[in-house]
Amino acid sequence: MTQDNQRRQLVEYRCPHCGGDHVGHDATSRFNPITQAWELGSQYDDTWCNDCGETSLDTVVLEGEALQALHEQIAAHQAEQRLRGAADDLLAALEKAAWFIENADSLPDRTARFFETREAWRAAIAKASATMTTEV
Ligand SMILES: [Zn+2]
Repeated sequence: MTQDNQRRQLVEYRCPHCGGDHVGHDATSRFNPITQAWELGSQYDDTWCNDCGETSLDTVVLEGEALQALHEQIAAHQAEQRLRGAADDLLAALEKAAWFIENADSLPDRTARFFETREAWRAAIAKASATMTTEV
C-alpha cells in the first residue's frame, strides 16, 4: 500500500434512514462511441436510496477496518491498472516486432527500423518489470 493511500481520507455515502449504501444522485449520461460506454454528464441535487426512495445522503468518513479494506481495494485496482498499461505496451511492442519481421526484407531503412523496434521492446519490458516489482 502506498503512503498516499494511507493518509488520504475516504468517504462513503449512506442512506440516513436504513444506513444502506445503495444510494445515488440523479444525473444525466451521454454515450461515448470511442469508449463504447455511457459516461456521466451532469449530476443533480436530488439523491435517492434503492430501498427508501428519495432521501438526503449522509457522508461517512471511513475509519478502522472499513478504511483499511477500501485502501486495499484501491491499491488492488491501481495495481491492475498499472499491469494493464504494461500489457498494452508489451502488446504494441509485439505488434511492431511482428510487423518488422514480416516486412524486414523490403524495408530500405531496415537498420533504423530494427533499432526502433528493439527500443520499443526494451521500454515495454522495463515498464513491465517495474510494474511487477512495484509495491502496492
Ligand atoms: Zn435507505
